[in-house]
Amino acid sequence: MVNDTTRLLGLDGLAVVEVIERDEHTGEGPIVWLATMDERARVCPGCGVTATRMKEWVTTRPRDLPVAGRRCLLLWRKRRWICSAACPRKTFTEQVPQIPARARLTERLRQASGAAVADGGRTIVQSARDHGVSWPVASAAFTAHAGRVLPAKPQAVTVLGIDETRRGRPRWVYDESAQAWKAVVDRWHVGFVDLSHGQGLLGQVEGRTTEAVIGWLQARGQEWK
Ligand SMILES: [Zn+2]
Repeated sequence: MVNDTTRLLGLDGLAVVEVIERDEHTGEGPIVWLATMDERARVCPGCGVTATRMKEWVTTRPRDLPVAGRRCLLLWRKRRWICSAACPRKTFTEQVPQIPARARLTERLRQASGAAVADGGRTIVQSARDHGVSWPVASAAFTAHAGRVLPAKPQAVTVLGIDETRRGRPRWVYDESAQAWKAVVDRWHVGFVDLSHGQGLLGQVEGRTTEAVIGWLQARGQEWK
């Protein structure tokens, strides 16, 4: 039987068992105890056989989006199962689509941190701070979000803009064979933008050399060129 709190939280496959208020002075949302209510969570990810023997209980703390504006502490008490088949995965813990095994945050929190950058115009640093995730998590979520919404190939452009951008600091290494210093990280990048149809930045490559520009153009394919 699905209760109202479970519906409100909306994490598919998980049921809210209990909600405990925390100290009101901390300003933090309540503790939300969760239980698995999806039978598929018992299916071994290694072989697809449904396990019947339990090894132990474990409690994880997946971080999630705020609930009604309050950041809650989610505690998911779940089982570790023993795989009954002849399978390299001897044991496994339950997982649901929103919280894959070993994930420390829900998929919707991860996706929100990327969408805030792509659609909300926030910087990665700001989105990471707002969502309580690390910079690499927000950055990867942004890349994944962009990959879902952008077309595989840019549309044709009538006027291509090519411009140099200074970015960060250069790094140099001494090349023994050439007896010279060479840049391994060039602080100059070349950006390619669509000046005709407003597609924005189409690509950015390191260096401001002829090779860098030609290399990017060659990778576009004959039809696009
Ligand atoms: Zn298995």
